[in-house]
Amino acid sequence: MRRPLIAGNWKMNGTKAEAAELLNGIKAGVAGMQRVDVAVCPPFPYLYLAEQLLADSAIAWGSQDVSEHAGGAFTGQISAAMLKDFGCRYAIVGHSERRQFNGESDALVASKYAQAVASGVVPVLCVGETLEERESGKTEEVVARHIDAVLSGSGVEAFGAGIVAYEPVWAIGTGVTATPEQAQEVHAFVRERIAARDKNIAEGLRLLYGGSMKPGNAAELIAQPDIDGGLIGGASLKATDFITICQAG
Ligand code: PGA
Repeated sequence: MRRPLIAGNWKMNGTKAEAAELLNGIKAGVAGMQRVDVAVCPPFPYLYLAEQLLADSAIAWGSQDVSEHAGGAFTGQISAAMLKDFGCRYAIVGHSERRQFNGESDALVASKYAQAVASGVVPVLCVGETLEERESGKTEEVVARHIDAVLSGSGVEAFGAGIVAYEPVWAIGTGVTATPEQAQEVHAFVRERIAARDKNIAEGLRLLYGGSMKPGNAAELIAQPDIDGGLIGGASLKATDFITICQAG
């Protein structure tokens, strides 16, 4: 059985005071929750705060990005080893906002994934199609390309040390959620693609859904056989909403 994971992607939101309040609120709300793993991915400057406030809880923390380099003269970048040093369990890689606004290519994302794995940080690889790609029947082609970049860069074994989040771009921050059937279809496709290389790794791989997941739709999404939790954006910024989603996990 795969253990569900509910992870909050805070994106570029909040102040130090708000981050502390949110971390404390989530901590109180999910204390004693046994069935799910819970994680938060605050902006980089607040990771230290997460480490301080969550160290005595079961909640894990992670970053929203990681450098494709191991270290050295790369101004402004953060290495996977530094994240590990701050106790990060996870690092989101290849989020569609980074692919879109920072021009991240499949190859770059694959390098970031590899760096995370090499440092013992669990990469959460985001994959997913735009509305235009879905409407022109290219969903599987796009998702396959995102997955295959990591397969060819790091081999199928790397999926034994990572997580995949299917996040249709048209559902992110739009209030439009994929239906459970639409999401399940793509999740099953991802699992089959990994299974073609290694059945055991595919069976154990956690696949999260992301894109306007909220208290009202989380349970039916997570109930799908190949959906093992969620990557939550907007609804992770309100402790009560995020806690309700964790309860649905
Ligand atoms: P959303 O974002 O929940 O606000 O749609 C999800 C994400 O981008 O990870």
